[in-house]
Amino acid sequence: MRILIAEDDPAIAAAISDALRRGGHAVDHVASGAQADAALSDGAHDLLVLDLGLPALDGSEVLQRLRQRGSGLPVLVITAREDLHERVRVLDLGADDYLVKPFALAEFEARLRALQRRATGKGTSEVCIGRLRLDLPGRRAWIGGEPLELTAREFGVIEALASRPDRITHRDQLVEALCGWDQELTYNGLDIAIHRLRRKLQGSGANVRTVRGLGYLLEESAGG
Ligand code: CA
Repeated sequence: MRILIAEDDPAIAAAISDALRRGGHAVDHVASGAQADAALSDGAHDLLVLDLGLPALDGSEVLQRLRQRGSGLPVLVITAREDLHERVRVLDLGADDYLVKPFALAEFEARLRALQRRATGKGTSEVCIGRLRLDLPGRRAWIGGEPLELTAREFGVIEALASRPDRITHRDQLVEALCGWDQELTYNGLDIAIHRLRRKLQGSGANVRTVRGLGYLLEESAGG
């Protein structure tokens, strides 16, 4: 997933960014509400982690504007404001969940996984194609019950494709899903990841098909 973190406390931002990157996610960070509002307008992110007490524009205002634009982006609010009234207001504005600071990283990560599962509209975020089984929030994969070792980038590719079943994903969309602003992925790097992924998927009944001039499709392969 590509995740936007809007948090003006550098220590908290660094801790959660590191945890998410270790989990194989692409992470972008902004430290003001105005920057968050601008970053969200291009729709490139899959999830928002939003601090309420932000300079330039309050977090609740960022959330309100996002929902007014009709976006259903999953939002996890992190807040130092403990009062019940504020938490109720934030949920009513359209936050999907909230955590009160200080929180344990393990709980933060568990809440994100739960959000991701809910965002797919199912109780679990398991995707099965042929004998390939993917646990998207847990970032694990199996072929016929055998664990499949994938690098963070390979998992990112398959996650981006599996999140758009039966739809073609353009190369630019893949690069966008895999990279934060401060990271680079060339088309060549993407091609290498897809090449390796295809080799690992051999015999799984799932395949990454190239649709010439358009992009890629994760689909069940006829040959098994
Ligand atoms: Ca703050």
